[in-house]
Amino acid sequence: MRTATNRCKRSLLALFLGLTACSSPDRPAGAPGADSGDVRIRYTARRVLLPEVPERGRILDRHDSVLVATRPQFLLKLPRLLDTLKLGELLGWDSTTVRQRIKDAVPAYRWGAAYPVQLSLTRAEVERVRQDSSQTVPKLTLTERPRRTYTTAAGAPLLGYMYAEAQPFLGQARRTQRGRFYRLRNGGVESYYNGLLSGHRGYQHPLVDAQGRQHGSWAKDTLFQQGQDLHLTIDAKLQTYAEKLLGNRRGYLVALDPKTGEILAYVSAPVYPASTITAPDKAGVRTELLESQDLPLLNRPAMLANPPGSVFKLVNAAVALQLEAITPASAFPCDQSLVSCVHGHRPAKNLTDGLKYSCNPYFYRVMQSLIDCVPDTLAGDTVAARHATLAQWRRYVRSFGFDAVLGVDLPREAPGFLPTPAYYDKARRTRAWTYRSIYSLSLGQGEINLTGLQMANLAAIIANRGWYYPPHLVRGIGAGGPLPRFRVKHRTLVDSVHFEALIPGMQAVMRSGTAASSSLADVGISVAGKTGTVQNDEGDDHAAFIGFAPADKPKIAVAVYLENAGFGAEAAAPCAVLVMEKYLRGSVAPKRKRWEKRIRREAGSE
Ligand SMILES: [Zn+2]
Repeated sequence: MRTATNRCKRSLLALFLGLTACSSPDRPAGAPGADSGDVRIRYTARRVLLPEVPERGRILDRHDSVLVATRPQFLLKLPRLLDTLKLGELLGWDSTTVRQRIKDAVPAYRWGAAYPVQLSLTRAEVERVRQDSSQTVPKLTLTERPRRTYTTAAGAPLLGYMYAEAQPFLGQARRTQRGRFYRLRNGGVESYYNGLLSGHRGYQHPLVDAQGRQHGSWAKDTLFQQGQDLHLTIDAKLQTYAEKLLGNRRGYLVALDPKTGEILAYVSAPVYPASTITAPDKAGVRTELLESQDLPLLNRPAMLANPPGSVFKLVNAAVALQLEAITPASAFPCDQSLVSCVHGHRPAKNLTDGLKYSCNPYFYRVMQSLIDCVPDTLAGDTVAARHATLAQWRRYVRSFGFDAVLGVDLPREAPGFLPTPAYYDKARRTRAWTYRSIYSLSLGQGEINLTGLQMANLAAIIANRGWYYPPHLVRGIGAGGPLPRFRVKHRTLVDSVHFEALIPGMQAVMRSGTAASSSLADVGISVAGKTGTVQNDEGDDHAAFIGFAPADKPKIAVAVYLENAGFGAEAAAPCAVLVMEKYLRGSVAPKRKRWEKRIRREAGSE
């Protein structure tokens, strides 16, 4: 009996591998056809595709407005020889519009090479073409096809694209970019959650005899699965607002709800309309994006890691407090023989002053007290001691989610970097490096690199006084919640009391310190923040800012980074504060309307 069963199993396996028939010389135990005695029965295993086709899910924002859905799209194929004047007449476009639309559709105006040119039309324009019985423009072809349709221009780097619809773009990117191609691919949540969005068709697996009668199944049925909607954490209005502030600058802005890790706004600048990558009539625009030196297609907040600058002083202070290397009352002189200090200021009598003035010598000494404190066990061996203290610093700092991916739901997030003792052994070509040769860590310069997501998460960690949920973009899949890993709370190795000790300094920054002009005190909101100005070898300094509000009960944490934009306080802090005010109050006070206008003008959004 056992051999018969085994033989049948083997034959079924053979069927599964694509062989056509199974003969069962012995009756398998409990198998169908038990009443046929010793008669040989031939079974055929079939795979039957069920007719129902799943509909791809929609993408909605946190207030349930639809951002992406599959809808019919109309395309007008133009003939090779075209009277553009008449085309404009037919569609109700002026001559500039006609020229622009064709230019957008064709890479670098290669009219002949790019044939056929297709333009996507609105319903009203389609009606005009259909009702034109006299054929104003001959040889036009109108087609209708369901495609992913973006209802908003905002959110390009997070919405991404459906891989199948992005083939023309990927081909273009491969041809024009080569080495950079890999970095410029970002399918957003549309790719990340592709399987859940698309759903799948159902299959049955009947076992049939020669007469076509079914005798049970040879495998479990695959159930039909409808495509599921994605409910984003993004606030579409805030996203649009933030994109206008950054416009065609280079940099990023990430806003989080610190209590949940939900990403409220996610801007990578220069910004471009979300539909550009897949629109059949935007090949010309795509060429410009691919060739731009500003790398608009680079998904900056997740993929680009930069030195955080003075923002990192907060991290070093928290770790130094935890390890009892300093106390909130520690005073250090502004000793410019150690490192220069750009802000002329009164002596820093405590940590709050140090943060308020962002005093470089102060934080030089904070870090030094971490690295040069020799553990008793290593007394006399300063080399081993420095390796041990740096490794310890790194272990505490890593608990902030640095030097590792946070696990955001986007493709190819970068981990950033924190140097190890071994890294310095190699880079300095000696194991006997001193604090003096690595002190740039104390200022967030040099080897440390953080992504935008890590910067925003740092703001959230301080807002929460020591913990975070991983930043994420999808808060609900279908009727369910987010991916389980976004519900796991992470704690840093620093106690909450030490984060609390940073907050007076961060409030002083906004009240009378480096970002005093970016206060929201007039509308009763207390902001806690820290600016950063990051030196770089390739041009003007980068401007950085992280902060949260309200300081005592944080509802929003923001990180802003503007490349080559100069002082953090002047460039980055106002953008962050406007986004906070917009989110917390719904509008911006008249007092700041002038700023808003100036920032938008500089960003090319007005
Ligand atoms: Zn100073």
